[in-house]
Amino acid sequence: MRIDVVTIFPEYLEPLNVSLLGKARARGLLDVRLHDLRSWTHDRHHTVDDTPYGGGPGMVMKPEPWGEALDALLAGDRPEADPVVVVPTPSGRPFTQELAVELAGAPWLVFTPARYEGIDRRVIEEYGARLDVREVSIGDYVLAGGEAPVLVMVEAVARLLPGVLGNAESHRDDSFAPGAMAALLEGPVYTKPPEWRGRAVPEVLVSGHHGRIARWRRDEALRRTTLNRPELIEGCEPEAFDKHDRET
Ligand code: SAM
Repeated sequence: MRIDVVTIFPEYLEPLNVSLLGKARARGLLDVRLHDLRSWTHDRHHTVDDTPYGGGPGMVMKPEPWGEALDALLAGDRPEADPVVVVPTPSGRPFTQELAVELAGAPWLVFTPARYEGIDRRVIEEYGARLDVREVSIGDYVLAGGEAPVLVMVEAVARLLPGVLGNAESHRDDSFAPGAMAALLEGPVYTKPPEWRGRAVPEVLVSGHHGRIARWRRDEALRRTTLNRPELIEGCEPEAFDKHDRET
């Protein structure tokens, strides 16, 4: 997968070289290219922002550098298919595991993390008229810039790419993963030693009985979801639950 990020702080994205993502890049599974938006400015101060029309506090990112940057990416050394352009903004649609799965199917993603009060609206309109442009929020809070949301989204997407996780099954039972645990949070997990500070691992997990273990995991997932995110349970169709689930 090819990922381009246009930002005024390319150094903010350095964690993309670390751990899982760093390995995926080194192995050629992920081709990440960082671009400094200021390289598409033409004044002495490399200005990317200006005062908002209509007044008010804060500054707005000027459309010209973004237009030049996106045009350059679209005209340059690029994948054949057009990119999905992801615009991080608190006013976007929520970023979910479902969206991560969808984006992981795209060959090319372009991220446009903003600063200040965001990007001049005309940029989103201009590219939205000819490309798949998604305005996406990572949560109901406001950060100073879109770089941290890009790190969040790239990591969530990249770990779904074939070959990125050591064990391809690892994300099968994750919270929110499609399948038997759909819409549920993952339950608690344990490793060795079998007893730590007087606390034993639940007996069922060392029983070797796969059916009982699967049932226990689902029960725990249901319990945790009911406690922490009851709205996820309420959003499920009744047939998503078996008789045992309802008793849990
Ligand atoms: N005035 C904007 C608003 O209230 O919607 C907030 C602008 S914020 C200070 C600057 C930039 O940070 C945004 O344009 C976006 O790129 C990024 N950002 C902040 N919070 C975000 C969130 N929850 N999800 C995605 N991006 C976010």
